[in-house]
Amino acid sequence: MSGTASGIGKALAGLLRAQGDEVIGIDLKDADVCADLSTPEGRALAVESVLGMCGGVLDGVVACAGVSTFTTLTVRVNYFGVTAMLEGLRPALAAAPAPRAAVIGSISGTKPAVPEVVRACLDGLEEEAVESGERAVERGDGRMLYPSSKSALAQWLRRVCVTPEWAGCGIPLNAVAPGVVLTPMSDPLFADEEMRKAMDAAVPMPLNGYAEPEVVAEALRWLISPANSHMSGQVVYVDGGAEATLRGPDV
Ligand code: NAD
Repeated sequence: MSGTASGIGKALAGLLRAQGDEVIGIDLKDADVCADLSTPEGRALAVESVLGMCGGVLDGVVACAGVSTFTTLTVRVNYFGVTAMLEGLRPALAAAPAPRAAVIGSISGTKPAVPEVVRACLDGLEEEAVESGERAVERGDGRMLYPSSKSALAQWLRRVCVTPEWAGCGIPLNAVAPGVVLTPMSDPLFADEEMRKAMDAAVPMPLNGYAEPEVVAEALRWLISPANSHMSGQVVYVDGGAEATLRGPDV
């Protein structure tokens, strides 16, 4: 599981360990495996280390690590870091009797994206995605890179989940898409009143407001539990009604 040192990943690791599960955490620091998922070398190190520690068999994989900067780091970590980790660990899932996998999308995945970035992500072309992303930053569209990374991730998930490598091996693959969650990632959004107002307009959460990380972790816990035998390819919004508010009833 990635992103276990903070926020949602830390909350999920806590829930799983409390129920007796063994969790192998991956993060930049304060984890069982310290690796940088923004680079191919770091991803390879993470995959190799986890495969060694689990003996080649994993019941579940959850990708929680992510960043929300207005830079191309979001594309490297949120898309290529997640998909490379899942693809690298997939054989160990396929070796388990009842495997499950999940990733974290975002309500931002419904916001305007940079089409060239999304296309290059889905084509597996990291440097091309980053080059397109750098051009977006130069023209002042850096804020569209986070939505681009999450939109691409949701599309990747729906493409691969039904293939012989995933569904054919009995591996459900889903995403939870949060609204605003109270973690270190969202802290800067509360830095001043103007920013907070803009965030509330962009992500309206009529049901119970901002979420604690444990709320999102509980949804992930069910998605990777043995109870989930048939849900796959879904992006489950755990967002206080934000997606329903923004998209309305006609979807
Ligand atoms: P967080 O900052 O608390 O935790 C993110 C974790 O990812 C950190 O421990 C960080 O060290 C790790 N990480 C970042 N870059 C990494 C890298 N290159 N290699 C390895 N680990 C790395 O944030 P969070 O809110 O818990 O975010 C978890 C996920 O939820 C992310 O994918 C994020 O995009 C998503 N999300 C968060 C919110 C929110 O409001 N907090 C909303 C929607 C989606």
